[in-house]
Amino acid sequence: FKGFAMKKLNETGWVEKEVPECGPLDAIIKPTCVSPCTSDIHTVWEGAIGDRKDMILGHEAVGEVVEVGKLVQNFKPGDKVIVPAITPDWDDEAAQRGFPSQTMEPLGGWKFSNFKDGVFGERFHVNLADANLAHMPDGLSDEGACMLVDMWSTGMMGSENADIPLGGSVLVIGIGAVGLSAIAGAKLLGAGRLFAAGTRPISVKVAKKYGATDIINYKEGPIDEQVMELTDGAGVDSVVIAGGNLENTWKEAISSAKAGGTVSNVNYLSGADNVLIPRVEWGCGMSNINIKNGLCPGGRVRMERLADLALCGRQDPELLVTHKFEGLDKIEDALYLMKEKPKDLIKPVVMLDLD
Ligand code: NAD
Ligand code: ZN
Repeated sequence: FKGFAMKKLNETGWVEKEVPECGPLDAIIKPTCVSPCTSDIHTVWEGAIGDRKDMILGHEAVGEVVEVGKLVQNFKPGDKVIVPAITPDWDDEAAQRGFPSQTMEPLGGWKFSNFKDGVFGERFHVNLADANLAHMPDGLSDEGACMLVDMWSTGMMGSENADIPLGGSVLVIGIGAVGLSAIAGAKLLGAGRLFAAGTRPISVKVAKKYGATDIINYKEGPIDEQVMELTDGAGVDSVVIAGGNLENTWKEAISSAKAGGTVSNVNYLSGADNVLIPRVEWGCGMSNINIKNGLCPGGRVRMERLADLALCGRQDPELLVTHKFEGLDKIEDALYLMKEKPKDLIKPVVMLDLD
């Protein structure tokens, strides 16, 4: 079958592959909707996880089951499914300790477009189908469901990790699809005042719809200075980092947090070897400002819960979709659009009608 791949660092192209073998607990899926992630861009053009050869890209998909292993109980060929971006080894000890996204090795739950072929092909393989697939509910569109598997799951985790007190103040730095999902999550988790730092007009519009109360333009001065001005020097309880750079963002995040606050990172760090934590702003390491981070949660229950948030009208995942392509060949255009990040883009999706 055909798939769109990272051929090597800085090079993409189409490849031909054999349909992978379906183990007894596994499934083979035919995607019906896929979306490129900013992480695919870090992977190919920044070498953030190292070199990969002819690895099919993509980890955001909704699809149809074409084959299941003989021990799979809850899915059968023809079922419509939501496929989490992260597909952990649920029997691994890291999962038992409560960190399924880090099974086998750090980031080990992230298999598609990292350790194995991703979803940008006519077929892809899912390990442990009963735990790593969710049935597609009635009332959810393919493109809406495709926004849950990584964007909502990651962004909302960013806010869950940020320990937002009921009515507490929150700052979200970077309002691409992940930061916007963090805003959606922060509102649902009880944020009071909710600052969104970003500039893309389309993102600002969705940020307000998802619950942002104040917009900060980071191009008009350091974010922390603007936060301090807007809060009369108080700062915020929780910060989510979902964009930015290694030079300024960590300083801005830590300097915006109150003593006892939490800085929660979901940004995929690349471009330098070290993260600079500002010593004085961090209270010489004694400010009780906590730093947390995490990889997108996967698994069936997570997807079912996120789907319920959409189905019950708490938030609308389709607000993230700004561009819609049709046909396998268009995956290439969608990925390059994600790389260029035009001003009117949040997320593109590619709708597929495969045999
Ligand atoms: P994005 O590029 O669409 O959004 C990031 C935003 O940050 C952009 O709008 C950009 O203009 C803005 N920005 C740039 N410089 C800034 C600055 N100095 N201050 C504030 N904002 C600034 O990306 P996205 O798709 O929303 O993804 C965000 C990050 O999350 C990426 O690094 C992505 O790889 C990562 N990610 C992580 C996980 C995870 O599991 N932790 C999962 C998915 C994506
Ligand atoms: Zn991703």
